[in-house]
Amino acid sequence: MRRVDIKIAYRCNNKCKFCIQGKKREFLRDKTTDEIRRILQENVKDFKGVVFTGGEVTIVNDFLELVDFAKRIGYSSIQIQTNGRMFSYLDFCKKTIDAGANQFALAIHGSTEEVHDSLTRVDGSFDQTLQGIKNLKSLDQIVLTNTVVNKINHKDIPNIAKMLVGLHVYSFQFAFMHINPVIQNDKNLIDEIVPRYKDVKKYVEEGLDIGINANIKCATEAMTPCIIPKYIDYIAEKYIPETFIYDSDVARDFQKMKRDGAKLKGPKCSECIFFDECEGPWRDYGEIFGFDEFVPITK
Ligand code: SF4
Repeated sequence: MRRVDIKIAYRCNNKCKFCIQGKKREFLRDKTTDEIRRILQENVKDFKGVVFTGGEVTIVNDFLELVDFAKRIGYSSIQIQTNGRMFSYLDFCKKTIDAGANQFALAIHGSTEEVHDSLTRVDGSFDQTLQGIKNLKSLDQIVLTNTVVNKINHKDIPNIAKMLVGLHVYSFQFAFMHINPVIQNDKNLIDEIVPRYKDVKKYVEEGLDIGINANIKCATEAMTPCIIPKYIDYIAEKYIPETFIYDSDVARDFQKMKRDGAKLKGPKCSECIFFDECEGPWRDYGEIFGFDEFVPITK
């Protein structure tokens, strides 16, 4: 289903080391309720799905009112992308569901508080996110999760997968981290959190196997076919629906944005049979580490 993705706010109650929004929360204002209503209204004829994302949407004042508005004007799929902490309150879960949300995409970055909280830089965030998943599941909701793969958590990925299987989530995804926001925010973190593909591959594959064997939908994002040739069918980019993103003041086609420069293929990629369908790694990865890991698949 085609969907519109609206970044309704940049502020957040976590401070993730790899935050894709970088420092935007310091210099970009959140959208007003009227602006978001207008975006919803303008797009409903073309998109039946909407994703509310941020920043952290659940701490926005009119969050419930906006979900309710989206439902009333005709969006049939209303996904909430969230760090999940507010859903540790059962009453808040019920209010969000009553307003019309019907998919919940929670970010979980470790199987323990030690790993997760060290990445979010908020003590107690792991317990709250975990409780959020449990609460939403207890209310029969569709729960998807995303884990940002980085140098601190990559060895924990199989444990995260086992935990998510035990929680009976609908699907989980392991997304190789975006590097550019770290470069923009705090270059000192590059050594600490940016991993190499060769180091994470084994753990991502193990995590996918755990999901596959449990019959749970699972995928990985920003991993290329040459890195995980046996798991090509689990590369999320093949399945991400057409998505139109309202970031700061600009509306952009997500797929086009990646093709136009956020990702970059290497000098040998033209020899690869996946050249057309592969997006390549994030541009900054190749620029920092080179392209030796990306060996063309020729048959
Ligand atoms: S096009 Fe390049 S990055 Fe993509 S799979 Fe082939 S070699 Fe790897």
